[in-house]
Amino acid sequence: MTIVERETSEIHALLAETTSEAAVHLDAQGKVLYVNPTFVRLFGYKGREVLNREVDKIFADRSRERFRQKIVSCLENGERSDSNLRGLTKKGEQLPVRVTVIPHRWRGDQAAMVLIRDLSEQLKITDELEALKSSYSALSETVSDPILQINESFHIIFANSAVERVFGYSAEELLKKEFSSLFPPSVHNRYDEVFKKYFVIDDIHRQASQLGNAIEVLGQNKSGDIVPLEISFGNSKSVRGERLVTCIIRDISQRKKTERKLKYLAYHDKLTDLGNRDLFYITLEQFLSHVKRYQDTIGAVLFLDLDGFKKVNDTLGHNVGDSLLCSCARRLSGCLRESDHVYRFSAELDPNSTSHEDLFRFGGDEFVILLTHLQKPTDAAVVAQKIIDTIRRPYQVKGIDPVIKINIGVSVGIALIPQNGLDAMQLIKHADMAMYKAKERGNRYMFFTSELNKQASERIFLENGIRKALDQKVFDLHYQPIVGIHGYIEGAEALLRWHDRKRGFISPLDFIPVAEETGLILPLGDWVFETACRQLRTWNSEGFEDLYVSINLSVKQFSQEHIVDKLSGIIERTAIDPKNLKIEITESSIIPDPREARMKMEELKKRHPGIRIAIDDFGTGYSSLSYLSEFPVDILKIDQSFVINMYKKGTTKIINTIITLGNSLLMDVIAEGVETKSQLEYLLSKNCKSFQGFYFGKPLTATALTQMLKTYKPPLFQV
Ligand code: C2E
Ligand code: MG
Ligand code: MG
Repeated sequence: MTIVERETSEIHALLAETTSEAAVHLDAQGKVLYVNPTFVRLFGYKGREVLNREVDKIFADRSRERFRQKIVSCLENGERSDSNLRGLTKKGEQLPVRVTVIPHRWRGDQAAMVLIRDLSEQLKITDELEALKSSYSALSETVSDPILQINESFHIIFANSAVERVFGYSAEELLKKEFSSLFPPSVHNRYDEVFKKYFVIDDIHRQASQLGNAIEVLGQNKSGDIVPLEISFGNSKSVRGERLVTCIIRDISQRKKTERKLKYLAYHDKLTDLGNRDLFYITLEQFLSHVKRYQDTIGAVLFLDLDGFKKVNDTLGHNVGDSLLCSCARRLSGCLRESDHVYRFSAELDPNSTSHEDLFRFGGDEFVILLTHLQKPTDAAVVAQKIIDTIRRPYQVKGIDPVIKINIGVSVGIALIPQNGLDAMQLIKHADMAMYKAKERGNRYMFFTSELNKQASERIFLENGIRKALDQKVFDLHYQPIVGIHGYIEGAEALLRWHDRKRGFISPLDFIPVAEETGLILPLGDWVFETACRQLRTWNSEGFEDLYVSINLSVKQFSQEHIVDKLSGIIERTAIDPKNLKIEITESSIIPDPREARMKMEELKKRHPGIRIAIDDFGTGYSSLSYLSEFPVDILKIDQSFVINMYKKGTTKIINTIITLGNSLLMDVIAEGVETKSQLEYLLSKNCKSFQGFYFGKPLTATALTQMLKTYKPPLFQV
């Protein structure tokens, strides 16, 4: 044997000795030439017990015959083979084995190398895996919650049959879907971000990162219904090393329903179903943080205490008392439902909520109201007054025979947000204090601060007063002369006058804004227009045929959809000559909807040729100049403040500009507020051609103006 041959055989021997497979070398006759130690260990035969013999006894039953055939085909045909057979140890134990027969040449003859691998361990593991798999699948099928396994590309790779109960999809259907198909499309982006976290972090590190094990989300089932879900996540890896996430999903609809019910009970008053004190504080805190953050709104806390309730309760019994409280609660929520000043937080959270998060029962006969979105403090007084009027109406209480009428009242204390505080406890304390002040006089409301009390009572006085004055026909029209370039009276502006029996003269500057806000300007404006047209007709037919009348139209009046029809009706009814009619609107009537305003003006002029339109108080609005040339405007009225303050710095420049503008656009310019000769002279020198002001005459009754027209001598004009 050469050195190389010797080394090779040593390496072979080493391999055979160390391999975990049993090795048997057979000669051309199939007799054993060599067995390795693993063979000895596996089958229990010593080397000498098998040397030079056939080894088919190490196989059991049919395996023995099959092995023989393999050896024959190897030795005769040089065929290699692999097969699973049943081995048999010396002790008689059977073993599952993998047998590989490898043909090779040995000492010039065909020989065979047989390698035998014990499969018992491997089969045991496979069996265990199988058992494990079936117990897992039994487990996942017995739990009533859906279990899903998701891979890194968010595809569902496993689903148990419980998915059908919650999602309506069968497990097979889900295997073709993406995880996102179980959620409403509107939340996909947001949820994707959340779910991704569970893929990049494993169970061990999850706690450290404070990522909860379970999350609550909204799912969507096959028929599109939203289902509240709780999902618990667990991480694992696939055989190929891919990250997998196992989700155990729980349908928590029932739990949510119970939670909501409990929450409702905790925050609502059993008798009236209104929010209770706790809910009030939560709602108020929410609103306060909004006010602090955005500073864009004001609000009010109204503290209500019924007047005369205790007596009813004591004399007619608690049942009557309870039913009276319920009636009051219903009336109060009715009042608020019609109010614009209520911001419903509940509506944001749950659009189907019917609870009143603006009205709360504090206990006994105390109620609290939270008003938000107020334009100005006196809006709170308007709501308070409405509440007082509503509660004051008599009650008919069922259950008592004969049915009797009960009268009670309510005292309301108002604290304003933020003026009276930005702290919940302080606000309620202030509202409560104001309520006590109101209670002293009974059946009224009081603000926490006295200044506001004055403003509010003025506002309520005006609102009620206008209504009454309209009913009782107390309003009157005065007419202020407007003179032309030579000083003769060419027309008159109709101006509303209100003389209250107690208060005396009330300026339109005070009551017109309230009439605007309450909508009372509409009946009032109709009356003005009709009365002024009739007066115009009288003058025109009684010798002053060229005299014109100018009538003011407020923003709200002009914005009425059918204003043109309305004015036309009056113009026709009173049979006036439209060329003697002027209509005054302000820039603020045009700004909200210039297109609409222009259409109305054009339509009016088309129907009544000759009618003229003036922009009143010109120069005080914010509008752009561009509209002037595009709108069918005939007259600019320089606001009286410019004329009166003519000698203040810069004012003459404004006057000059308006006159130049008017002249260049071929519009008439009327200067209002002309009080002195020097003002007139200046205006004349700047080419202004019409004037109105105390210098010529104050607003007068129609009779007084008729008298004036007859005797009027123009003041000296230097033309
Ligand atoms: P306006 O339309 O600009 O009316 C002119 C106002 O200036 C009138 O005030 C008038 O009395 C006052 N005035 C006239 N000449 C002078 C003067 O030389 N010096 C001073 N200091 N004031 C002068 P009035 O009557 O108090 O009316 C105030 C505003 O109320 C009117 O301003 C108009 O905007 C509104 N108004 C009056 N009557 C009506 C009406 O019937 N309908 C509508 N919508 N608004 C009206
Ligand atoms: Mg006017
Ligand atoms: Mg004016």
